[in-house]
Amino acid sequence: MSRRCLHCGTPFEPTKSNQRYCKRKCHAAAYCAANRDRCAARRAANRAANRAREVKYQAAYYAANRARIAKLKAVHYAANSARILKQKAAYRAASHARIAKYQAAYRAANRDRIAKRGAAYHAANRERILKRQAVYRAANRTRIAQHAAAYRAANRAKLAKYHEVYYAANRTRILKQVVAYRAANRERILKRQAAYRAAKRKRLRTPDPLPRLGGHVEKG
Ligand SMILES: [Zn+2]
Repeated sequence: MSRRCLHCGTPFEPTKSNQRYCKRKCHAAAYCAANRDRCAARRAANRAANRAREVKYQAAYYAANRARIAKLKAVHYAANSARILKQKAAYRAASHARIAKYQAAYRAANRDRIAKRGAAYHAANRERILKRQAVYRAANRTRIAQHAAAYRAANRAKLAKYHEVYYAANRTRILKQVVAYRAANRERILKRQAAYRAAKRKRLRTPDPLPRLGGHVEKG
């Protein structure tokens, strides 16, 4: 006696009296349609299990073939560097917001680790970093000054508040520092002050090139 598959409708000869689907695949599809959540959970579990297995396998493979893989990568990179750089630039340009968000999240989650690593790197490469910074500053003096001025202008209120808070919190230390600086640079400061006073005296002695009119001057 022939039946029709309850899932796909194909006629089939049942081998058991209670067989309702033509093949295992139809049975599974019907089951999952009726038990969506359970099937989704099983699929996710399978994927997770396979992922762990795959990661483990790849790590082992990489560890066993480290030198060979590094060489292959270097060769590949050298042969395709122009293409790779172009691709990277295109990706960065297209995903700017997404990348920034991801990086911010990463930095927030790994703050301590990053700070530690940065400090260690800085300590190990102090000379090299200072040299590089000096070279950069010398080459970009105008640009840096402009940028700093723009930043100060845009954040005047914020900076003033910040300085106030900082000063209040470090008052004793700052005063001590100022006193120490004055003591250490006494000669230089006195000279500078004398030069300033002399310049002012000279300015006062020099007659004003524009004769002053009594009262205020209308600006045109
Ligand atoms: Zn079927």
